[in-house]
Amino acid sequence: MESKGLQPMDSEQLRENAHKMVDFIADYYKSIENFPVLSQVEPGYLRELLPDSAPNQPETLQNVLDDVQAKILPGVTHWQSPSYFAYYPSNSSVAGFLGEMLSAGINMVGFSWITSPAATELEMIVLDWLGKLLKLPEDFLSTGQGGGVIQGTASEAVLVVLLAARDRVLRKLGKNALEKLVVYASDQTHSALQKACQIGGIHPENCKLLKTDSSTNYALSPDLLSKAISDDISTGLVPFFLCATVGTTSSTAVDPLLSLGKIAKNNGIWFHVDAAYAGSACICPEYRCYIDGVEEADSFNMNAHKWFLTNFDCSALWVKDRNALIQSLSTNPEFLKNKASQANMVVDYKDWQIPLGRRFRSLKLWMVLRLYGLENLQCYIRNHINLAKYFEGLVAADSRFEVDRPCYVCLYVFLFYTPDWTSDLSNTYLFTDKTFLTRSSYSILFICNTFNFTKLADFC
Ligand SMILES: *Cc1c(COP(=O)(O)O)cnc(C)c1O
Repeated sequence: MESKGLQPMDSEQLRENAHKMVDFIADYYKSIENFPVLSQVEPGYLRELLPDSAPNQPETLQNVLDDVQAKILPGVTHWQSPSYFAYYPSNSSVAGFLGEMLSAGINMVGFSWITSPAATELEMIVLDWLGKLLKLPEDFLSTGQGGGVIQGTASEAVLVVLLAARDRVLRKLGKNALEKLVVYASDQTHSALQKACQIGGIHPENCKLLKTDSSTNYALSPDLLSKAISDDISTGLVPFFLCATVGTTSSTAVDPLLSLGKIAKNNGIWFHVDAAYAGSACICPEYRCYIDGVEEADSFNMNAHKWFLTNFDCSALWVKDRNALIQSLSTNPEFLKNKASQANMVVDYKDWQIPLGRRFRSLKLWMVLRLYGLENLQCYIRNHINLAKYFEGLVAADSRFEVDRPCYVCLYVFLFYTPDWTSDLSNTYLFTDKTFLTRSSYSILFICNTFNFTKLADFC
């Protein structure tokens, strides 16, 4: 055996190898535009290229990096490419990267305050900061009964608040009421809500996705909601949860929070606002109007890992009543007991989420806020929205395209007419290398190829 290879954790070996890794990553970013955005490999390609079992003896980092270059990168779809326009933005940044690196370095598992007081306290502070930038009502800040928590994804965020809301109502009505509980949202709502209902034991027919259409720009109609609620109450069902979206996934439609929130309040319904993508825009005063009415909400969520320069994953969730979450999700086994928790002096984030273990994710958000500052972040958002407007102009001026829905922020929905439409082509354009804009990785385009005016809904 030539060398013993890497030690489990040796600071000098770390320094040397991590420098190499940073060089590798920096080179990757430098050359990212040389790759096709959408990976061109066939399913199962990697099994052909890698051995059947793990090596007996250590290999060198250089060997592994060579394999990454030759075998892994061809199978990567390059989300950070300036030519990536699919799904939603997934921005990273130097600050976000550095925060992620530091979190990997400290590598603690912060389920309770005592397991790393700084992790809990920084998370509370940073989410208060971000909550203030978004001008969230004070009840969402950690100084009162509420507070923020970083979840992995918007899906986990909606799940935990749905469970909190469910258990709040079941404590009143008894467990047998579960089959009567009803959830409302628009038919544009992200499928994460349906998954949350499945996990939460909500009867599938009681997850009511109310119809929207172009007359309201695909926003949920308060009248329709009121009617659905009173119909359901009259048949003995129990409305308990409303999910509104600011910036729906298929068209960035914005639900009217203020009137929906009033209806929810009058009916004792938990009101959750999903602003996973578009929420970031609300740090600019001119776009804050999209979440006007969030004052009425019980919970609010935005993904810093989408459009806020924070590397995946970082989904910020605020609630007004943290006890509702805790009552639903806390456990207190013997091995986790400690003085600070027992005395109720601290926040234990394990009780605000599904898993026990949790990462030090606030570091990267803190880095983003500190290393860029509000003015730069606002500038960045405005620039993207301007790019989308510029793009809108290009589309409007070209007869092959037809604008389908208004563009609220950056997601842009339009029809593209081409005689040789195939479903494969739709993928090609989703991940197109032939950019309409140069270096506009950040304006997300939902590009629908349609040959014969088929309904966009079929594609969404
Ligand atoms: C992206 C998105 C989601 C799902 O996000 P995850 O964090 O991947 O779970 C939910 N709702 C909206 C509006 C989104 O844009």
